[in-house]
Amino acid sequence: MAETAEKSPRISFVSLGCPKALVDSERIVTRLRAEGYELTRTHQGADLVIVNTCGFLDSAKQESLSAIGDALAENGRVVVTGCMGAEPEDILKAHPSVLAITGPQQYESVLAAVHEAVPPRHDPFLDLVPDQGIKLTPRHYAYLKISEGCSNRCTFCIIPKLRGDLVSRPAGEVLREAEKLVKAGVKELLVISQDTSAYGQDIRYAASPFGDKEVAARFVDLSRALGDLGAWVRLHYVYPYPHVDPIMELMAEGKVLPYLDIPFQHASPTVLRRMKRPASQEKTLARINAWRQAVPDLTVRSTFIVGFPGETEAEFQELLDFLEEAQIDRAGCFKFEPVRGAEANALADPVPDAVKAERHDRFMRAQQAISARRLKKKVGTRQQVIIDQVTPGGGIGRTKGDAPEIDGTVKVAARRPLRVGEIATVKIEAAGPYDLAGTAVGF
Ligand code: SF4
Repeated sequence: MAETAEKSPRISFVSLGCPKALVDSERIVTRLRAEGYELTRTHQGADLVIVNTCGFLDSAKQESLSAIGDALAENGRVVVTGCMGAEPEDILKAHPSVLAITGPQQYESVLAAVHEAVPPRHDPFLDLVPDQGIKLTPRHYAYLKISEGCSNRCTFCIIPKLRGDLVSRPAGEVLREAEKLVKAGVKELLVISQDTSAYGQDIRYAASPFGDKEVAARFVDLSRALGDLGAWVRLHYVYPYPHVDPIMELMAEGKVLPYLDIPFQHASPTVLRRMKRPASQEKTLARINAWRQAVPDLTVRSTFIVGFPGETEAEFQELLDFLEEAQIDRAGCFKFEPVRGAEANALADPVPDAVKAERHDRFMRAQQAISARRLKKKVGTRQQVIIDQVTPGGGIGRTKGDAPEIDGTVKVAARRPLRVGEIATVKIEAAGPYDLAGTAVGF
């Protein structure tokens, strides 16, 4: 047994790209661990390297290609998977010696490629995978993917080409995964997909069993059942469709966090039409205002694209006005980049790079002022803060209004040691443009 364990094949894993790709990586790693493979943090000494690539923007493709190059230089035996695997020609042109290339979500093909390169050792005693799987994210929060693919056709995006139309997971399956995670100590579930509010459309909202009840594959039903598990539930990639309104009740009841990540991308109706974005913007402001009335501490985070082909100064100004009127708490801003294969590349009047840069700058300054103003209102309040990291004299955490990796943090001073994953009550004493600081209370 000891001899077998010593000879377990060792895999080094590189995970690039968005949280959705991270979930794919976690699934692959879980399967490999279940088959007795060991993971190592360095390429050197590993039997094989797997690179999970991101192919969304040209800059991400470059990052993926250089990660593959590093893995080949340091190890030489490399299997490539992920979004960029949908277009293998580019990879093969740059790195003809990779062992295999598989596309996104092709778990079985990745495993087959690994088996071929480094056969698994069969030893049931090595099946030490915990019930909830292996997570690459810290133990106290986990991403929960509720569907794959997307049935929208935004003109700047090639995700549907890479990943196909929406395929929703049955609600019971999602809930069982979530329940295992919570039992294993996860305190925050981050619900992700390409279009969370479209969940279940493809399977006609079919109900599936979970425990002694049936749960419909509807966004609201799933959110409620997730909220019943007792962890923080954070919703990402939600569109402002009318059927999102009932979620406010769940937020008011404390079942899901008062947080919505809505990828608006723009606010000018003409730009949105050129982008072919889902969900009409006409009533968006009214909808956000109604949501804020129902849930006063709602945080709205979004992403926007500036410099989309044909974007005029007036259209850009509409975007700035929207930011101000909707009081978007958090926003990421991207300069439009043509993605090979995207319909938008053929649109007239590309915006010059200098104009894109200038608009990006103005956007960020406007957003920073809104964010700073909104955070200042939190000074003097008590907030629930989940601790991500322990530091001498306290820790770094996040409020209910901050998602990991993309939003702000709270620097917490504490008189007793904090634990990673604990939810502390913190009196907020200072606010910057994006982050807060305060002292843990109650002990
Ligand atoms: S909603 Fe639009 S941007 Fe998002 S994945 Fe679908 S097609 Fe792409």
